Order: sequence, then structure tokens, then C-alpha cells
Amino acid sequence: MKNIKRRDFLKTTTMTGVAAATSSIINLNAFAIPNKLVAGKPIVISSGNGAKALEKAMGMIQEGKDALDAVIAGVNIVEDDPNDMSVGYGGLPNEEGVVELDAAVMHGSSYRGGAVASIRNIKNPSKVARLVMERSDHVLIVGDGALKFAKAHGFMEENLLTDQAREAWLKWKENLSSEDDWLPPHTIEDKEIGQIYEKYLRHYGTIHLSGLDMNGNLSCVTTTSGLSYKIPGRVGDSPIIGAGLYCDNEVGSAGSTGRGEANLLNCSSVMIVEWMRQGKSPEESCILACKRINDRCREKRLQDDQGRFKYGVSFYAINKRGEYGGATLYSGGSFLIHDGTSVKKIESAYLFKK
Ligand code: ASP
Repeated sequence: MKNIKRRDFLKTTTMTGVAAATSSIINLNAFAIPNKLVAGKPIVISSGNGAKALEKAMGMIQEGKDALDAVIAGVNIVEDDPNDMSVGYGGLPNEEGVVELDAAVMHGSSYRGGAVASIRNIKNPSKVARLVMERSDHVLIVGDGALKFAKAHGFMEENLLTDQAREAWLKWKENLSSEDDWLPPHTIEDKEIGQIYEKYLRHYGTIHLSGLDMNGNLSCVTTTSGLSYKIPGRVGDSPIIGAGLYCDNEVGSAGSTGRGEANLLNCSSVMIVEWMRQGKSPEESCILACKRINDRCREKRLQDDQGRFKYGVSFYAINKRGEYGGATLYSGGSFLIHDGTSVKKIESAYLFKK
């Protein structure tokens, strides 16, 4: 029997009449996307820490490179930077002082994704996430398995804890409680030692990049050291496809930074892409994601006096047309884009005024 490729099938059906074909084969139009978007001019969007990443990514896109190559090369700069304490090398460690990284990638044109979570000693988890996508039959590999997978592909182990990050962790640990045995610097006159002196000693921080290339293809990446001083093995939203990032080549691409648990519970990034599919703008879709988090929260410990979700979550989105938008729960947030001319800082839409 002749093996009919879809292209041949279409040729055949036009020549011999559609009626015969539809009786034996599923009607592919039933799955067609309404209002299919025509690709716009290249664009790249990122969280506020992505200026250099955007320069790199847009440079590559303008050379004709695929969006995935571009966004990964962009975030690699931030993963390598010891001074960004939220991503890769120099990221803040878990509660035991060990750096554990999460990352995921999604490739629009092949509709594939890959991710690693809680990986130790490898400073570019986004590259390993890509290999999970391209060189394994899996989508997510965690912990020791992820490290072994990376080493099998030639990645070198290195200590990711910089002195700056270790000192920040030590400060947190020594000031956590006056009941444990860790003491911050003090004099013999001090009575109260080791109590929390700042309300928020813990930090969120991550980089997300979404890009649309010259061929009209979308891709995205999110990479992070996650919530600082987390319980070892804690996985946030960043390596979870649908939560910390999502991309659909027909529609758009989205990602998030901030309190990952909220995105894990609300599948925020896939929701944003689906709202864009329904015709909402990137900004409206990001605001809807903020609203969904706030509306669905029932835990009082996570709410302020007015019953509002009290943690920061930020969203970034682009659509296939090259339109962009971002939103945060509280006013004062911003994001970056590169539209082919320069990096621009854009004020995020918000749900609540601070
Ligand atoms: N979303 C990240 C996480 O929860 C952290 C962040 O973006 O600040 O791991």
C-alpha cells in the first residue's frame, strides 16, 4: 500500500473530491485554530533582569537564528553572571546552603519542551533542559538524575555558591531564630541575638524570555535558582511547562516570575496563551492571570488585611503578531522588550495599586 503523506493526501482530495476523503479520515479542519494569526515583526520580551539577554537574543534573531537558540543564548548570560543572585551561578541557595536550579524551554515550531528541576552543580540548566527535549524521550528530569544526564552530555560540575550568596544565606540562617545555635555578629553587651531583623529576608528572582523570530516562530525559556532558602528539593513554577512558561506557535508565548506556588496552582502561563488564542491582548491575558491567582486564593496566611493575595507575581507575554504585554499583581512592576531597535523598559499593567 502506498504511504500517503498529508501533503499528498491534500493533493489527492482536491483532485478526487473531499466527500470521499472525509468518510475515512478525520476532518482536520475541526481542530483548526480560529483567527489564525499572521506572524509579525520579531520581538523578544523578558523580566527586568534581562537587558543583556535581550540584546543577545535579538542579535541572533536578526541574523536569522531560531527563536529557541536566541532565547537560550540570552539567558545563558544571566546564568553565568555571579551578580544575578536569582539565576544560575551565584544564585541564592536552599536552606542548607546548596544551590539548586530549575529551568525549562519550549520550542514553538516543533511543539516540544524540556525541563530540569532541583539540579545541582550545573550552571546552565536551560541548556540541559534543551537536551532533555532533544536527546531524551522525557520532558522533565529532576535532582540527581538531571545531574547525571547533564554529565552524560559533557557538562562539568562546579560549585555554584559564590561568597556573596553564601554570606546572604548565612545572614538569613543566623537571624532566623533566637532559639537555635547560629548567632550573627554581636557584642558581649547584646541580649537579643538572632531574631529576624528584616521582614523579608527571602527573595524571589528568575529570568524569563519569550521570542518571535524572523520566520514567525515562537520559543521561550525560564531559568532560576528559585525561592531562596527553600526546602531542599522544592520545585517552583519555572521548570513546569504550563505554569512558569508556555508557548504555542500558532498563538503566542508567555512566562512568569515571582511566587511560583501561585502559578503551580493556577497553570498561569498556559492560561495566558489560551486567553490570547481567544483574542485577548497579551496585556489583558496577563491581567487575567493575576486576577485568577487573587480570586482563587482561600488561604488567609497568603492574604493581606484587605483579603488580597499579598505576594508578587509578574507575567510577560507576546503574541504571534509581535504584540507584547506584561502585568503584575501590584503596581510598580516593569518588564523589558527588544523590538529590533533597542531594549525598552515598559511599565507593567497591574491588578492592585500599592
Ligand atoms: N518563580 C520562581 C520560583 O517560584 C521564583 C521567582 O521567579 O522569583 O521558583
